[in-house]
Amino acid sequence: MTITDSTGAEARSADESRVLELCEQLLTELPPKQTAPAEFLGRQFDLGLAWVHFPEGHGGLGLSPRLQKLANDTLARAGAPRAGGLNPIGHGMGAPTVVTHGSEAQKQRYLRPLFTNEEIWCQLFSEPGAGSDVAGLSSRAVRDGDEWVVNGQKVWTTLAHVSRWGMLVARTDPDAPKHRGLTYFVVDMHAPGVEVRPLYQITGEAEFNEVYFTDVRIPDAERLGEVGEGWRVSLTTLMNERVSIGGQTPPRGTGFVGELMKTYAATGPHDAATRDRVMRLWVRAEVLRLTNVRAGQNRSQGTPGPEGSIGKLAMADVHKDISACAVDLLGAEGTLFPTGYPMARPETTALWNNAQQAFLRSRANSIEGGTTEIMKNILGERVLGLPGDIRTDKDRPWIEVPRS
Ligand SMILES: Cc1cc2nc3c(=O)[nH]c(=O)nc-3n(C[C@H](O)[C@H](O)[C@H](O)COP(=O)(O)OP(=O)(O)OC[C@H]3O[C@@H](n4cnc5c(N)ncnc54)[C@H](O)[C@@H]3O)c2cc1C
Repeated sequence: MTITDSTGAEARSADESRVLELCEQLLTELPPKQTAPAEFLGRQFDLGLAWVHFPEGHGGLGLSPRLQKLANDTLARAGAPRAGGLNPIGHGMGAPTVVTHGSEAQKQRYLRPLFTNEEIWCQLFSEPGAGSDVAGLSSRAVRDGDEWVVNGQKVWTTLAHVSRWGMLVARTDPDAPKHRGLTYFVVDMHAPGVEVRPLYQITGEAEFNEVYFTDVRIPDAERLGEVGEGWRVSLTTLMNERVSIGGQTPPRGTGFVGELMKTYAATGPHDAATRDRVMRLWVRAEVLRLTNVRAGQNRSQGTPGPEGSIGKLAMADVHKDISACAVDLLGAEGTLFPTGYPMARPETTALWNNAQQAFLRSRANSIEGGTTEIMKNILGERVLGLPGDIRTDKDRPWIEVPRS
């Protein structure tokens, strides 16, 4: 609770003071400029400042998630390394899934190197025949003693080429209806039988991949959650994914809209209509930012609910429109790709390298992490209470559902 004193000024709550004291301890012990990022982040984890709402001993302090922003802002101002940039899927989705559903041994094993970016994570959900309908997936895991044998194909797997671990959902009971026959595993991406092949995007880069599993053996100890409970575990990943992609709260006027303002300043002179267009985009970006700040402050638990889809939905449109405006401001230069078309293999997901790349990359924002249509379905059904989508296969055994 934040206490207000007799003058109306906000005094620090005990929890806020604790977070700030620990930040100060960390910055004193390991000045960021003189410390390797992994060492700094490791100590941040040990002090409970990685995810303050996680339990003590697992990178947290058991406090409200809203205090994380206080820790992040304080450390960032002092020049600390940013935790999630190199491992966005691990930080945004892997960690909350492990802490919610993992065994004690799994939490001990996975969370720290995930936070320090020493072990990168990827998400192995989508398949050629199962994207929006991910519960309909076909990759099979068959039990063999203390192990599972996995065969199948995943697709669009971001950063699989640099990943140590993958969050894998596979079908373990084809006779059950689709949502009830799934099991969730953490798979070693270096295990025999895992093959990662690049998939090139419209930007010419291959951030993502196809991943083939041929008789890959996963120890049962690396199962996350119960057998047949894979959908429930997946929902934790998916809910966090939406906020991880669309719930960012960068400082005002930074991020995509900050880049647009730089392009605006570097081009011109501009007419009133262009100024009006840029101003409207600035306002939309700020409304999204404030909506996300408010949602973060209202969140009493770590994992967001269905309302988390609103930021993802809005962010896709805002990013597309901002980058399109920036390309327009560049005039004829906007039609040229400034870095050539290098067929690069990025080690992280860069959303804005230059206006042209951002314009092309942001086309995917309304697809990745759940499409805009699916976000609207979630918001319509689960937030607004509108009638549900038609789902004829929901209660049928998966094996009997026709598929291509
Ligand atoms: C850049 C990028 C990165 C990605 N990274 C990953 C990753 O790391 N891991 C991973 O597992 N996946 C990843 N994906 C995959 C992504 O989650 C899927 O592409 C997405 O869920 C859509 O699935 P789909 O491509 O199979 O399209 P489909 O599900 O076939 O959809 C096709 C079209 O039909 C619409 N549609 C489908 N169902 C409905 C419905 N019920 N109501 C209304 N409209 C509907 C969709 O909105 C879409 O317009 C990534 C995708 C992109 C573009």
